[in-house]
Amino acid sequence: MFPMTVHRAVGVDIGGTDTKIGLVRFEGDSDSLRCAKFEIETRLKIPTVADRGPEAVVDDIAAAVASLKPPPIMGIGVGCPGPLSPSRGVVFGSPNLAGWRDVPLRDLIAERTHQPTVIDNDANLAALGEYCASPDSPGDLVLMTLGTGIGTGTIIDGRVFHGQFENASEWGHTIVQPGGLPCPCGQCGCLEQYASATAVVGRYTQLARDSDDSSVRPTVTAADVARLAASGDKVAGEVWDDACRFLATVCVNIQHAVNPGRVLLGGGMSAAGAFLLSRVVRHFDALRWRVHDDFPVIGLSRLGNDAGIVGAARLAVSGADH
Ligand SMILES: [Zn+2]
Repeated sequence: MFPMTVHRAVGVDIGGTDTKIGLVRFEGDSDSLRCAKFEIETRLKIPTVADRGPEAVVDDIAAAVASLKPPPIMGIGVGCPGPLSPSRGVVFGSPNLAGWRDVPLRDLIAERTHQPTVIDNDANLAALGEYCASPDSPGDLVLMTLGTGIGTGTIIDGRVFHGQFENASEWGHTIVQPGGLPCPCGQCGCLEQYASATAVVGRYTQLARDSDDSSVRPTVTAADVARLAASGDKVAGEVWDDACRFLATVCVNIQHAVNPGRVLLGGGMSAAGAFLLSRVVRHFDALRWRVHDDFPVIGLSRLGNDAGIVGAARLAVSGADH
């Protein structure tokens, strides 16, 4: 039995459009990343004006952290789009952060806030948040955040899995269609070109335009495509089913590469709930091997948009070696 202790930390989740910041209170064993209880005590959202440069973004973050008037905290954890190096605290660059190149983000934020600071890939920290939020579920997990792209994080033995070059677990850039659609990453046929929320809307819009079906309506979100599919729209149904099949394909690959207890689906597409989950599970059951029942439970994320803040704050509590 561990003594119950209270720790606070600030979690920062830098997105291409907005940056979410939260003061998170953890209650439980500080040596374990799995928490009995946590609460986001205060939160705010500020615009990410990336084209003003990283120093201006850091100034905005520092001002926002100060405005939280936090009580004593363990430090600040920052999730940022990658590729990046958690060990060096450097963001190499990201399509979502125009003009950023080899930015020493960790040290910039530490200097401005005078707080110990750690950084990691935003999707890795969202996965860590989900891990903290479900102490009674199987430990090893992969989170796939289905949004503008597909951000993924892998937790093995209670730690973010980084790999030798610190950019492991880019399941969104695993190739599901050799020679397929070009991806901004430079490859062709990446999962995120078929199964991200943006891809689903884009593919539906294009196919609908080419279709002579006059009932086709403009859509804004992947959840709209799901609603159309559920109501019998043939084009929407094909696009949605394709996305779910590709996701299930990668779930099989994850099963064999990682053998996690859970694969969780989050992000904008998960707003479709059971209409997403049941399709992915159905395709997974059809695609998976038959020689052993070592299948992950495929489920929906619990924390949604809060996962990144919680995971970032938890990293600040536990230290960068996690
Ligand atoms: Zn790619």
